[in-house]
Amino acid sequence: MAKRDYYDILGVSKSASEADIKKAYRQMAIKYHPDKNPGDKAAEEKFKEAADAYGVLSDPQKKAQYDQFGHAGPQGGFGGGHMNMDDIFSNFGDIFGGAFGGGFGGGGGQRRAKGSNLRIKVKLNLEEIASGCTKKIKVFKLVNSSDVTFDTCPTCKGQGQVRRVTNTILGQMATTSTCPSCHGVGKSVKSKPKDADENGQKREEELIEINIPAGVGEGMTLNVAGKGNAGPFGGIPGDLLVQIEEEEHSELKRDGINLYYDLYVNFADAALGSAVEVPLVKGKAQIKIDAGTQSGKILRLKGKGLKDVNGYNQGDLLVNINVWTPQKLSDDEKKLLEKLRDSSNFKPAPGTKDKSFFQRVKEMFN
Ligand SMILES: [Zn+2]
Repeated sequence: MAKRDYYDILGVSKSASEADIKKAYRQMAIKYHPDKNPGDKAAEEKFKEAADAYGVLSDPQKKAQYDQFGHAGPQGGFGGGHMNMDDIFSNFGDIFGGAFGGGFGGGGGQRRAKGSNLRIKVKLNLEEIASGCTKKIKVFKLVNSSDVTFDTCPTCKGQGQVRRVTNTILGQMATTSTCPSCHGVGKSVKSKPKDADENGQKREEELIEINIPAGVGEGMTLNVAGKGNAGPFGGIPGDLLVQIEEEEHSELKRDGINLYYDLYVNFADAALGSAVEVPLVKGKAQIKIDAGTQSGKILRLKGKGLKDVNGYNQGDLLVNINVWTPQKLSDDEKKLLEKLRDSSNFKPAPGTKDKSFFQRVKEMFN
């Protein structure tokens, strides 16, 4: 069978530019597209013929050889059969410019199904958050059952995609979408054990070890790739999404990477000076209370906060000093305090309240 001249097929002259050749092919491809001409063998032939012609004329090297040697090519190179449909769509799919939906861009055909993501919640205490930790957690996830045999998917005939006819400005067009029965794999379950579902999967308990970095916080989600539900039909597994829940600490409050602690000191300690203990995430620290410390003074314990999960910063522990006013007094205590009441030293000194709490915190960080 004599092959038609490639320039004739596309209806362009030998001097046509690359853009003209592309434009001519696009028109032919849309005109004879199988989705516009379902079941029309002649159109399919023309569609393939145009693709063959474009395959050569769009490639400068092949075009030069074709111009010199014709269909024979240097080693009979252009004498072979047509490209198959998948090749056409994967090589030239972009030529349709979206006119036929997204299905052709990737060359159509089968793909590996991805398992669904599995979501779990993990509750952590402050100590675990501060140091990072490894958690072993039981999850109930879909696994591929053994002893499952497969058939070609009857819905898509193994193509992995189904076509749906819709009306567009170019007339009736078909769009392709992933086959709902086989999720694009092109297979169906032929036989399976009784306890497996229609995808040949069953739920099994699995102990998963999750590494949690230091500094995570309430509501954060960690993505553990590939630890979700198994992909049906031997596909790739989904991810395990671990949502962090934070247990409230009995004494320390958290704000981002910083921790806050409300310290109450004895009135005498505040006046005379003292050393007191404050809790840390792990253990305790002793801090010095200067003589004459006012209520509302903030001490900053640098680096005793939390690690920034997204960086290298380390937060601080901010200690807010409250001077404790005794509420129940013995007669002796009352007498002592009454003696002190009128001392001029016990009157609040002017200027002690000239800075707001807000200002003091701001200054501390500048
Ligand atoms: Zn299918």
